[in-house]
Amino acid sequence: MKEFNYIIIGGGCAGLSLAYELEINEKLKDKTLAIIEPREEYRKDKTWSFWKVTNHNFDDCVKKSWENFTVNIPKNTKHLQCASYPYQSIDSGLFYEKINNKLKENKNISFFKDISEINSKNSFVFNSVPSIKKDHRNLWQHFCGVEIETLNDFFDDEIFNLMDFDCDQRESVHFFYTLPYSKTSALVETTWLSKMNDNSQKDYNYQIKDYIENHLNLKNYKITYKEEGAIPLFYPSYEMEKNKINIGTAGGMTRLSTGYTFLNIQEHSKYICNNIEKISKTKKFEIGKKYQFLDDIFLRVLDESPHMMPDIFFKMFKSSPKTVIKFLSNKSNFLQDLSIIMKMPKWTFVKALFN
Ligand SMILES: Cc1cc2nc3c(=O)[nH]c(=O)nc-3n(C[C@H](O)[C@H](O)[C@H](O)COP(=O)(O)OP(=O)(O)OC[C@H]3O[C@@H](n4cnc5c(N)ncnc54)[C@H](O)[C@@H]3O)c2cc1C
Repeated sequence: MKEFNYIIIGGGCAGLSLAYELEINEKLKDKTLAIIEPREEYRKDKTWSFWKVTNHNFDDCVKKSWENFTVNIPKNTKHLQCASYPYQSIDSGLFYEKINNKLKENKNISFFKDISEINSKNSFVFNSVPSIKKDHRNLWQHFCGVEIETLNDFFDDEIFNLMDFDCDQRESVHFFYTLPYSKTSALVETTWLSKMNDNSQKDYNYQIKDYIENHLNLKNYKITYKEEGAIPLFYPSYEMEKNKINIGTAGGMTRLSTGYTFLNIQEHSKYICNNIEKISKTKKFEIGKKYQFLDDIFLRVLDESPHMMPDIFFKMFKSSPKTVIKFLSNKSNFLQDLSIIMKMPKWTFVKALFN
């Protein structure tokens, strides 16, 4: 069976981002790479959005970018500006196409459906398939979004809505997220932060229809695309193995308080690429310990007091948008952290710390 210098398990966001980074930096001229990916074909299956706090390779896959956003709780709306760190939405269909076209040019890169088709004994492995054990105590961000089109102009495409908590919370944490791509099209997503122990929050179609028709007051529209997903708000378990690094969700690249993963994946890919020649001796890349600690307390508060979360998120945005964006994107300094912490209900957080 054929052997390869490197193997990437999972040709999704992290696997393909890493392969692309290695390829464009000419690290695969004299090395071979096998990508293991079971899917039959690549098509748009996700929309990755984030504040652009660092450069990445995929500006040409950006569907839309915004410099203004809102956050809502019942009877209160904050209008915020993010011109220094625009919020970008990447179309995964364009991302897959761009990367696969590039990788096809290099004969040293091969795709396989299953790892049993190759000899992996002497390869360095990058694994993006998480091992997630079912545990009813774990929190998830689970959501469903639809792209809709209207006949007439309806949306203000200069401003997106990050979180609208003016909706049924069902003793959990629930918000809607609206990305207007144009005056006649938008992604509308219902999002829950919860333990997902039953299906009682999964009547997504009803929630979205009700929000569009009775909250946005839009009656004539058609659905052109739908995506559904769940992001673990905990780190998947893994055993340290020689010659293996976990990447993507499997590698702990999700910011647990927000679910944002895409830009962390890009930074991790660059880190691996810069150190590829000595990768087995390179220090593990992680989201800063400070954020791991703060997110842990934040999620304990969310778990114990879900009813407080709309206010907590809203209050967070009393700090300047730049401060909040940098904090949520793991790029804040001590003073910015402090500014966020000071906006939080102190006693609730202190209690959570000692629970
Ligand atoms: C619908 C959705 C929307 C999201 N939106 C955002 C967002 O807006 N912003 C953000 O920052 N993050 C977002 N995320 C979180 C995160 O960015 C994505 O989940 C991202 O795709 C994670 O990349 P990954 O490579 O770890 O996983 P994936 O992209 O899921 O890739 C894993 C790959 O492994 C393959 N695979 C599965 N089993 C095997 C196997 N046994 N062997 C080999 N391969 C296998 C799969 O087919 C898949 O291609 C979203 C997640 C989802 C699910």
